[in-house]
Amino acid sequence: MQGARLAIAIVGAGPAGLAAALLLKRAGHHVSIFERFDEPKPLGSGLILQPTGLTVLHHLGLLDEILSLGARVDRLFGADAKTGRTVLDVRYDARAGGSFGLAVHRAALFGVLHRAVVREGIAIETGIEIADIDAGCERAMLLGGDGKAIGPFDLVVDASGTRSTLRRRADATCEPKPLAYGAFWASLKWRDGFDPHALLQRYDKASVMIGVLPIGRPQADAEDMAAFFWSLKPADAERVRAAGIDAWKDRLVSLWADCRAFTDQIDGFDQLVLARYGHHTLMRPAGRQLAVIGDSAHSTSPQLGQGANMALLDAAALAHAVASARNVDDALELYVRARRLQVRVFQALSRMFTPFYQSDSALLPFMRDRLVASLARIPPAPRLLGSMVAGTLVDPFAAAGLEEVRWRTLAPAQAAQGANPLRAGRQAGAADSPA
Ligand SMILES: Cc1cc2nc3c(=O)[nH]c(=O)nc-3n(C[C@H](O)[C@H](O)[C@H](O)COP(=O)(O)OP(=O)(O)OC[C@H]3O[C@@H](n4cnc5c(N)ncnc54)[C@H](O)[C@@H]3O)c2cc1C
Repeated sequence: MQGARLAIAIVGAGPAGLAAALLLKRAGHHVSIFERFDEPKPLGSGLILQPTGLTVLHHLGLLDEILSLGARVDRLFGADAKTGRTVLDVRYDARAGGSFGLAVHRAALFGVLHRAVVREGIAIETGIEIADIDAGCERAMLLGGDGKAIGPFDLVVDASGTRSTLRRRADATCEPKPLAYGAFWASLKWRDGFDPHALLQRYDKASVMIGVLPIGRPQADAEDMAAFFWSLKPADAERVRAAGIDAWKDRLVSLWADCRAFTDQIDGFDQLVLARYGHHTLMRPAGRQLAVIGDSAHSTSPQLGQGANMALLDAAALAHAVASARNVDDALELYVRARRLQVRVFQALSRMFTPFYQSDSALLPFMRDRLVASLARIPPAPRLLGSMVAGTLVDPFAAAGLEEVRWRTLAPAQAAQGANPLRAGRQAGAADSPA
C-alpha cells in the first residue's frame, strides 16, 4: 500500500504488539497501542530468542541492544536424572552459518522493544482492556471493557496473547486446549558451575523435568540471572505447596544435586510462578479488518521455545504484507499465506514432542531415552534438530520479507556473548554438560 497512511490499532503490548507497532509506524502508518495494564510490563521469567526472532530484531535495528543483555545459547542438553544418560543434545552449530540462540530475561526483550516504541513516539494507551471489535461499522471500532467505542481504524491487530477475546472475530477461530503439564518458574541469580551457554535439563520419565537456563540481565546495570523451572501438573500444585517448600526442594536436589545452587535461593512458593500451557492454532488468523498475531493466533507449550519468535515473525510478515498489498483485504490474505506453513509445522511438532517430555506416559520417555536419543546422533538428524530448534526447518524468512542475519559477519564481541564484561570473563564450558 505505497503512499497509504492507515489508522492501525494494536491490542496488546507484548513482543508481537510492540514489534508490529514499530514496523507499521516505520512504514508510515498511524499506529496506536492499547494495553490492559496500567504500565506495560512483561510477565514471567526467561525465554530463548531463536535465529528467527533475532533476525526480526536485527531488521528492527535492535540486535546489538538485545545481544548486550542476553546470554548466548549454543546447545540444549538434557540427561536422565537417575542414570545420567544423555537424552537430548542439540547444537545450533549443526546448522550451517554459525547461528545461535539468545536466552533473555523477559524484561530485557520487553525493555528493548518498549524503549524503541517510546523513541518513535508511538502512542501507548494503558489501562484499557479491549473487549471486542464492533463489526457493524464500515471501519473497525474497538470496544473497551466499559463499552466505550474507540476508533475508527482501517486495521486492528490482535496481539493480546493466549487469552484474547478478539480472536473470536477471526474467520475461523478456536480456543486453547489446556495441556496436562505446566511448570513452576523462577528468575534467580546466576551461579557458576553450570554451562553459561546451554539450556540444561534433567528428566525422570516424562513427569519430571528440571531446567536451568542462563538469561543474562533484565537491564544493563543488573546482575546475570538464570531461569529455573520444574514441570508439574497445575492440578498438583496445591498438593505440592501443602507439603511445604523444603519437601519440594529436597525432591529436586535428590534428582539433581547441583541444582541446590538455585533451590538455596528459594525460600517460599511465592518466588515461583505457576505457568499453565494451552495449545491452539487459528487456521485463518484474520477477519474483517483484523489480523491476529502472536499467542492469540497460536499457543503451545514452550518445549520447542518458539512462541515469542513466531510472534516476532508474525509481526514482520504482517508489516511486509501491508507494504506489498493494494488494500487491507489483500494484505490480510498475504499475511495469512505468509505464516501458514511455518506456524502449522511448528505447532504440529510442538504437539508431537511435548508428551515425550511432559506427560504421564511411560512408553514415550522410554522411546525418547533409548531410541530417539540414539537416532538423533545419526546424520542428518543433528542438522534437522538444529534447524527445528532454530525455527528454520521451513523457511520463515522469505515470506516475511526478511533475510536471515549473517551470523558469521557479526563482530566477535557481539557473537561471543553480548557485552557483559562479567560474563565475557568467565570460562565458556563449565562442569555440567560434557563437551
Ligand atoms: C513459561 C513460559 C516459557 C516460555 N519460553 C519460551 C521460549 O523459550 N521461547 C519462545 O519463543 N517463547 C517462549 N514462551 C512463549 C512466549 O512467552 C509467548 O509466545 C510470547 O510472549 C507471545 O507474545 P505475544 O505478544 O503474542 O503475547 P503476550 O506476551 O502474552 O502479550 C500480550 C499482551 O496483551 C495484553 N492484553 C491481553 N488482553 C488484552 C486486552 N483485552 N486489551 C488490552 N491488552 C490486552 C497483555 O497484558 C500483554 O501485555 C514461553 C511461555 C511461557 C509461559
